[in-house]
Amino acid sequence: MARVYNFSAGPSMLPEEVLRQAAEEMLDYQGSGQSVLEMSHRSKVFDKIIKDAEADLREIMNIPDNYKVLFLQGGGSTQFAMIPLNLMNKSKKADFVITGQWANKAYQEAARYGEAKVIASSKDKTFSYIPKLNKADFTPDADYFYICLNNTIYGTKWNQLPETGDVPLVADISSNVLSEPIDVSKFGLLFAGAQKNVSGAGVTIVIVREDLIGNAMDFTPTMLNYKIHADAGSLYNTPPCYAIYIAGLVFQWIKKNGGLEAMKAANEKKAKLLYDFLDSSKLFKGTVVPEDRSLMNVPFVTGNEELDAKFVKEATAAGLVNLKGHRTVGGMRASIYNAMPYEGVVALVDFMKKFEADNK
Ligand SMILES: *Cc1c(COP(=O)(O)O)cnc(C)c1O
Repeated sequence: MARVYNFSAGPSMLPEEVLRQAAEEMLDYQGSGQSVLEMSHRSKVFDKIIKDAEADLREIMNIPDNYKVLFLQGGGSTQFAMIPLNLMNKSKKADFVITGQWANKAYQEAARYGEAKVIASSKDKTFSYIPKLNKADFTPDADYFYICLNNTIYGTKWNQLPETGDVPLVADISSNVLSEPIDVSKFGLLFAGAQKNVSGAGVTIVIVREDLIGNAMDFTPTMLNYKIHADAGSLYNTPPCYAIYIAGLVFQWIKKNGGLEAMKAANEKKAKLLYDFLDSSKLFKGTVVPEDRSLMNVPFVTGNEELDAKFVKEATAAGLVNLKGHRTVGGMRASIYNAMPYEGVVALVDFMKKFEADNK
């Protein structure tokens, strides 16, 4: 069996160890005589799977007791509506920083329910940097302040959080969840679709401060009300059982491998190798300003579209797949999440060096 190095932005690589364990347990999960795909979500066996997953995530991320952890469906994108429906409940105002397509979608959706304000944007330079903020622009009585912490498409990351005082900070962490430690207590709400760094598609993790839920807008659909899911322990209806099970295995894998500090060290080592090469290359160029570079998503270009296409094609043939940039940006993008081994990035950099030498 030949496994490729998969640089996809999502769904993306999972640790091989996790996939092997899932394969072993596919027909008979721990003596239950059933697959996790087949078992009742109300069974004792599944109850342990979801409770253990939550406990392990709380431990890994050091989530304070006054936060709820929810396992929901609808992908990261459903959160764009769920957040305003549940949180825009006092002044009905919220602030947004537009650092790319995902933040913009969240802004547009919130604007349907209340007064959404753009505080800053980096659209002028194709979202290649995190904009500087002017505190005087912030809405003092906003119900929340929204950012996308890591911009999957453009490869930028917030290295310093906005100071929002009493206004709850809400962040989309779909593409950097579990990549390094994060101080949960600085946020009102965090969410992540799982298919980038946690599991397969199907489950979305929401971490929300308890006092922020329970006051959803009257017309909020039951399934989009955080309180309903929180009170039911994420078992109001059938949850995405298999994706939760895989997430649980990934949490155990992270614990076994030294937790988020160790993930951070490994991710920094991988990213440094790639960025150092980009900074020294005469052919390839990173598209993001150095101070705002993501550890997870690394976009780069040659400056020549034909050469970009040739690179992607030849890399694919060499077992380095899904390097094509997002359709809105072009060029290339290497997503190097937790499960991408260091050897995968070495193989990519070696291939880039060879390509550069061959295409002088
Ligand atoms: C992928 C992604 C999303 C969208 O997730 P879906 O699960 O496809 O809805 C939202 N935000 C960020 C930062 C992402 O990377």
